[in-house]
Amino acid sequence: MTDQNTKIIYRGISMIEGWPEKIKASQDIQTCIVNDQQVSRIRYGNELDDWGADRQPCHDCGVIKGEFHVEGCDVERCPGCDGQRFNCDCEPCEDDDTDEA
Ligand SMILES: [Zn+2]
Ligand SMILES: [Zn+2]
Repeated sequence: MTDQNTKIIYRGISMIEGWPEKIKASQDIQTCIVNDQQVSRIRYGNELDDWGADRQPCHDCGVIKGEFHVEGCDVERCPGCDGQRFNCDCEPCEDDDTDEA
């Protein structure tokens, strides 16, 4: 068995090495662009759904309540549509619509 990602413990949570740096970097990114407007990102615990922020760190990216999720976290909500930010169409973060010009 090979474990490609070295696991470390950060704030009592097991995560891959280097992830705490990603968490810290994410805290500096307070806004995102939704439909060409700069809007505040939604902090963990401020989602419409209860993701357990009062009880546990984010199950996907490991941030704690009041922190911003790490980029690409599947819990992070989109401030524009309340959908999954990772997966919604508001933000031109991925250009999937380039196959047909
Ligand atoms: Zn998260
Ligand atoms: Zn959206």
